[in-house]
Amino acid sequence: MRHAFIPIGGLHHATRDSAAGFCVFNDCGIAIEAARRLHGIRRVAYVDIDAHHGDGVFYAFEEDPDVLDADLHEDGRFLYPGTGSRGETGRGAAQGTKLNIPLPPGADDATFLKAWDEVERYLDAGKPELILLQCGADSLGGDPITHLKLTAEAHAHAARRLGVLAERYAGGRVLGMGGGGYNRANLARAWTRVVEELAA
Ligand SMILES: [Zn+2]
Repeated sequence: MRHAFIPIGGLHHATRDSAAGFCVFNDCGIAIEAARRLHGIRRVAYVDIDAHHGDGVFYAFEEDPDVLDADLHEDGRFLYPGTGSRGETGRGAAQGTKLNIPLPPGADDATFLKAWDEVERYLDAGKPELILLQCGADSLGGDPITHLKLTAEAHAHAARRLGVLAERYAGGRVLGMGGGGYNRANLARAWTRVVEELAA
């Protein structure tokens, strides 16, 4: 097992050359580039369960078939940044290689777990060499700026299952990154459960 977690990371809206959505830099994208340029990793999986679509990461690697991007988020018709529809699956050489799963406002853990099965099938097919998890806590019920109703158990499930998948394909490598979250009690609940699972 080679797991790490950085709570102040996961800023997923900035583009390669501009700030956006509370994010000056996009450390998720930088982590992907660093893994490839400095550590010789080719296929990286980016899994994003923040309530907002990780548009900065998605569009930065939209034409790159070696970046697997699975993003569960509140439907963009109801929440910033408005992107991440089912039909957005990548462009050019990467067309059909990305997975966007919009969730309806009010979606709970049952809806999340059903969608999560699809994420696992996607990662099984893609066989990443490194897995990144952006586990924004703003997808929990009670967040003041979003409308999803997940609990910390959704985040725990994601962390636990990515650990299993990482053992299978990625030499055990998982990097968790905090991301959004505007209810402090939710931040504490979600991320302590993520750390608990990553450390198990
Ligand atoms: Zn967010």
